Amino acid sequence: MDEIVSLCKRRGFIFPGSEVYGGLAGTWDYGPLGAMLKRNVEASFWQTFVDSRTDMYGVDATIIMNPKVWEASGHVATFADPLIEDTVNNKRHRLDHLLEDAGVDVKGLSLEQMQEIVTEKKMKSLDGNPLGEARMFNMMFSTHVGPVADDKSIAYLRPETAQGIFTNYKNIVDTIYPDLPFGIAQVGKAFRNEISPRDFVFRSREFNQMEIEYFVDPKDWESIFEKWVADFHSWLEEMGLPKDHTHDLEVPDEDRAHYSKRTIDIEFDYPVGRKELMGIAYRTDFDLMNIQRESGKNMMYRPKDGSEPLVPHVIEPSIGTERLIMAIMCSAYTDDGERVVLKLPEVLAPYKFCVSPLLKNKPELVAKAQEVFAELKKKYSFVAWDDSGNIGKRYAKQDEIGTPKCVVIDFETLEDDTVTVRHRDDASQERVKISEL
Ligand code: ATP
Repeated sequence: MDEIVSLCKRRGFIFPGSEVYGGLAGTWDYGPLGAMLKRNVEASFWQTFVDSRTDMYGVDATIIMNPKVWEASGHVATFADPLIEDTVNNKRHRLDHLLEDAGVDVKGLSLEQMQEIVTEKKMKSLDGNPLGEARMFNMMFSTHVGPVADDKSIAYLRPETAQGIFTNYKNIVDTIYPDLPFGIAQVGKAFRNEISPRDFVFRSREFNQMEIEYFVDPKDWESIFEKWVADFHSWLEEMGLPKDHTHDLEVPDEDRAHYSKRTIDIEFDYPVGRKELMGIAYRTDFDLMNIQRESGKNMMYRPKDGSEPLVPHVIEPSIGTERLIMAIMCSAYTDDGERVVLKLPEVLAPYKFCVSPLLKNKPELVAKAQEVFAELKKKYSFVAWDDSGNIGKRYAKQDEIGTPKCVVIDFETLEDDTVTVRHRDDASQERVKISEL
């Protein structure tokens, strides 16, 4: 993990947020290469699950929504994690994580049961001090809308993108009237005031989610649920995650949200352990019924074949961009002792080609290389130019940032318009005509 974090920093993928001022816990900034990688990941999600299908639509909703959204969804009352405080230095810890680190299986335990274990085991904080009373801590960031900061102006930064989809369900049915089943996707920021952010970008306070709410007739939910699990597995493979590193966890009854009738978490073997990469949940009609009750608006869908109107049920695949990027980096990173190579799938690589002249001090080579660079850049845009150091160093740098092909212009090029194409994964080289690049 340390090597990957260091590569992310060194090569401009991911930096600690506000680093110049000492950072801000749980926030991370994407550098030039990270921003390209993130865009490629989210573009692939959109291409696979929205653009290439006829049953999917996209939305781009606001981050700040009417607070009634979060009351109806249950977030104001229950979107909380167990917190316990060090009684000496007042540092706050996530209680379930403290217990897990002490080898306790916390699945299904109530706050009271966790507190009892702390007392029984005479557990101490990470700094070795006594712990205080446990309590639940709501993770939503709040702010005020408008110039008056009082209880009436309170609003929240969305803790998930899903509610921006549910609140637009009726608009989409009324304007587009898609056939059932259909889905709505959204990619965007989500904010959670995590008690203890950790494991690089895995648990951040500001992150991106890629979410789908797929609306179905309840009689069909089981087969559609299975299809979504399979579709996400194939996409994760396309993103370069080895099959044997992803695992389906059938979330047991006692750990599922009360509205979910079935949840599968797809876990990934990160260097820091096997952890949740994404979830696929059958949310029944919980969200639409809440909205119908709280807003007084009708959420019924009228099937086009004239059969009985119904409130559709929902299957929700939800994945965080950062957790996926972390899994992608871990899967792509290889170090055989001689070379560090980021074996990213071509579709994700920030640059597809790097063009360089064999020697920097030969104007004729530089001019020809610039010509080839301009031509490729016109067509592919993701093309890097590198004339720094010697050719070996350039290859090493491009290997580390995952560029699949290096194109080198040498003296032979000037004679026969062929270039050397050097391939990232096996370092093999071939001669290719410029026109065939
Ligand atoms: P966890 O149990 O790890 O806190 P969760 O079950 O609360 O996660 P969900 O509410 O299901 O997560 O959110 C859907 C997805 O959003 C997660 O599977 C994950 O990919 C991503 N996600 C959630 N919280 C964070 C976070 N703090 N930082 C980065 N990604 C996150």
